[in-house]
Order: sequence, then C-alpha cells, then structure tokens
Amino acid sequence: MKVVRSPVSWSIVKTFFSKEGIYMGKIDDYVKANNCKPKELVYHTWRDVKNSQKKPTGKMRVLVDKDMIARVEYACPECKHQAYAEQPWKRPFSIKCAKCSFKITVPKMKNEAKREAKSKPAEDSSNKE
Ligand SMILES: [Zn+2]
Repeated sequence: MKVVRSPVSWSIVKTFFSKEGIYMGKIDDYVKANNCKPKELVYHTWRDVKNSQKKPTGKMRVLVDKDMIARVEYACPECKHQAYAEQPWKRPFSIKCAKCSFKITVPKMKNEAKREAKSKPAEDSSNKE
C-alpha cells in the first residue's frame, strides 16, 4: 500500500479548456501524476448537472483520492463557466460556481459504487472489486 504523493505537475494546463469544450484534463493529469488506480479511489464520477430550470446543461467530474480531497472539474450549468476546484470531500457534495455562485450538487446515483467503468478499461482487466 504505497501512498504516492509526488508533487503534481499541472504542466498540461493548456488542455484545461480544450477538448469538447468541457473536458479539462486536470483530473486526468492528477490521475496520471499520482498513478491512481481506479479501485483505490474513494470516489470518481462524471455527471451531468442541472441548472436552476432542471435542465442538464452542465457537467462535473469529481475524483476523491485517499486524502479525502475532492478534485472537481465542472462546467457550470448556469453560466457555462468552467473551472477546477479542490475542497474536502463530504456527502452530499456540492460546489459553488466560482463565477456566478450557482450551487452545483452531485446528484445521487443508484449505481454509485460502480465507479466509472470507462475510466481505464485497458489498464487492469481484473479490476472488478
Ligand atoms: Zn456559474
């Protein structure tokens, strides 16, 4: 059980606002820099998030490592602001948009224990829990 806490190199900031307009890459960078294994993560999800009209116009990705810090990438459903943030992990989890202060909450999912299956399928095929 090694806890690797190498200094995170956020060198790939240029991908932050890139692909698909919503995929920022900060969390991917973290995962790569720390060699995170999906099954060792406390929580990892990628969700559509709703605006005040209940329309799923935003997205958010949340990754919680063993340090219980939630690393969040979000695209605000209200103002489309995209940002990365870190804050202590707790349930129910919500984060405030840095721009418009809209409260973005993580909707509960029934299959929550089933972490993002698509996160790293090639890496370890016996990765079933
Ligand atoms: Zn906003």
